[in-house]
Formats: sequence, C-alpha cells, structure tokens
Amino acid sequence: MKRVLFLISALLVALSSVAQKKIPHAVKTYNEATARRMEIVLPKVKGYNCYKGDFHIHTSYSDGRVNPSGRVVEAWVDGLDVIAITDHYEGRTGEKKFLKVVAPYFEGGTPPKYQSAGKAKRVLADFNAIHQEAVDQVAKSGYPMLVIKGCEMARNAQTHGHFNALFLQDINGLYDADLEVALQRVKEQGGVVIHNHPAWRRDTSDKTEFHERVYSEGLVDGVEVANGYTFYPHIVRRCIDEGLTMFANTDEHSMTTHRFLQNGNLRTMTIIFAKELTEKAIKDAILKHRTIAYSGGCLIGEESWLVEFLNAAVDCCLVAVKEKNEHLYMLTNQSSIPLRLRRGKTIYELEPFKPILVSFGKDKEGVEATRPVYTVDNMWVADYKHPKVEIAIDKK
Ligand SMILES: [Zn+2]
Ligand SMILES: [Zn+2]
Repeated sequence: MKRVLFLISALLVALSSVAQKKIPHAVKTYNEATARRMEIVLPKVKGYNCYKGDFHIHTSYSDGRVNPSGRVVEAWVDGLDVIAITDHYEGRTGEKKFLKVVAPYFEGGTPPKYQSAGKAKRVLADFNAIHQEAVDQVAKSGYPMLVIKGCEMARNAQTHGHFNALFLQDINGLYDADLEVALQRVKEQGGVVIHNHPAWRRDTSDKTEFHERVYSEGLVDGVEVANGYTFYPHIVRRCIDEGLTMFANTDEHSMTTHRFLQNGNLRTMTIIFAKELTEKAIKDAILKHRTIAYSGGCLIGEESWLVEFLNAAVDCCLVAVKEKNEHLYMLTNQSSIPLRLRRGKTIYELEPFKPILVSFGKDKEGVEATRPVYTVDNMWVADYKHPKVEIAIDKK
C-alpha cells in the first residue's frame, strides 16, 4: 500500500511539473503574418497591369508626422505598389525638431542652428538618405513594392507653386534659388516633373508667367488633377491639350488611415498602366500618359483610358431577350472601385463584385435602345464632363 501511495504522489509531482513546464512565457494572441493589406483589385487594361501609385508623400524629415519606414508600411497596407517620398526640399521643420532632441550630444547642449535652403544657399540635409531609408524598409519587409527617388520643390504659391521631382539620380545638389534652374537640373538627371496642387492658395488654376515659361520649355511632364480630396477640373483639359500626364496623389503629411480607409475610401492614387513593376516601365507609362487619377471615388483621366478601364472592369452578359425586344443584361464590376452608372435620371451603383440585372428596350422617346449605354457619373473627362460609354457585351 505504501508503495502504491508513493507511486501516486510521485506521479502527481511529475504531472504538476509537466503542467508548469507547459506554461509559456510569451504567447501570441494573433498571428501578425496573417494581417492583410487592403487588396485593391483592378483589371488588366489593353494588356497592361494597373499599378497603384502615390508620388507625393511627406515624412518627419520635412513636415510630415511619419518617418520613411512608416510610410512604406502604410502604403503597403493601403494597397499601393509604387510610392515616392517627396519631402520638401527647401523647408524641413522636422530637422529643427530633431536638432532639439539631439542637443545634449553637442558641447554646451547647443546644436547647430537649422537652416532653410534660402538662408544656407544650399540644402544641408542628405535627401538620398531619406529615400534609402524607405528602400531599406521595402527590402526588410520583402514587399514587392517600388520606391521612386524624389522630392518636392516649393516656392511662392501665387507666382511659382510647388513641383515634385521624380526618378532622380541624386537629390542633393538640385537646389538653386532660381526654381527654373532647379527644374532644369531635374531634367539633366533624366527626372520627371509634376506640377503639384495647381490651385492651392490661389483662386485660380491658370498658369502664371513662370508656369508659361517652364511648361513651354518642356520642363513639366505632368500635373496633379487631384491632390488628396481636391480635384482641379480645369487641369484635365490642360493635360489633354498639352500632352501632360494626370496624377492624383495624397500629399500626405499626417496618417493615411484616418483620412482614407476609415472614411470608407480607397487612398487617393494614380493608376498606372504598365507591363511590369519596374522603375523603367513605370516611368515609361508616366511619360506616355498612361494613367488615371483616383480620388474620393472619382476616376479622372483621358476619355479613351477611362472607357478602356470601364470595359475591362465590367463584365456584361446578355441574359435574355424578352418580349418587345427587351434585352436583359447582367453587369458585374470586377474591380474594387465602385462605378456609378446613369441612364437618364436613374443611377445604378455598381458595387465591386456584386452583379446587377438591367434591362434595355426603348429609350425615353420610345426609340429602340437595346445596347447598354451609360453615363459614368464617377468618371471625369475634360471640361468637367462624364463620359458616355457603351459597355462591351459578352467580352472574352
Ligand atoms: Zn506642396
Ligand atoms: Zn507636398
């Protein structure tokens, strides 16, 4: 009996030690690896992939609130494929704050005084290092994402405005007190120039004398038709008439989540039609104006690209031909961007991946109209108009 009791107590001791050993010191409450990004599904258009880009983003090195690594993670989560960190080249309030933080490193606790470009006659910060920080984060995270080297050059809003320089070789050394010279330097590096938020702090989006000059010299490649949630309708006509590329960028200084996704919107972006996600292919698409600007649910661009996009995104099947030649169609939006189709006064919200049935027979005047033709209310073409599109039926 004693032996049995001994065995039982030994077993209990062994079991309790096993139980104790089994309690881990750290447990994951959620598998972060399964945290998903906002996957934005867009169709293949004329054999091109649709890449989602934001070419105007600020970090804490100029006057933004997030550092370059944070911007990369944020853009990935927001569903983007290509970004450019474009900190203000001339004015960098973040440096001022940083110098305050590291003041004890300096003798007597007095760090060097922050100098804006104007006063220093050059930019003292290493802008290539800002870009590299973002590139390193992409490599570290393993995201299939592209970071374009860029910066924003800003002058008086009334006379000059702001310009983004992209696809640069070396950001440092671009500065010149004369913005025209600085833009020429961008071109010498094979860079691309975007005219940013053309009606910002102005009551017009018309060109100034400076703009007339730099545009006619071929120093400007594209313009922001939208910046954040602001759309500049006059710029669409300018882009078409002058062969400029349309962009929509966030110009994000704060955090994108509370501005876009939490409001139920996709992030403002430029949709780029390119064969592959390489710097060469993206640059080629930009220089050949293969873009659509997206902001707040609106798609802005050249009519031909918008029509191609719509027809690539929408599957339209002829379901039946009924009495009196009434044609019944099923429309399915195979993209993540809702499409607002209008026929007369009736609006059809074509939500992503939710088919609807529509019928066509006669129009208001009683004339036979069996083809699915709509005005697309959330698409904008030149002169503040919506395109009228005949949706391709039973496309392959
Ligand atoms: Zn700006
Ligand atoms: Zn900006």
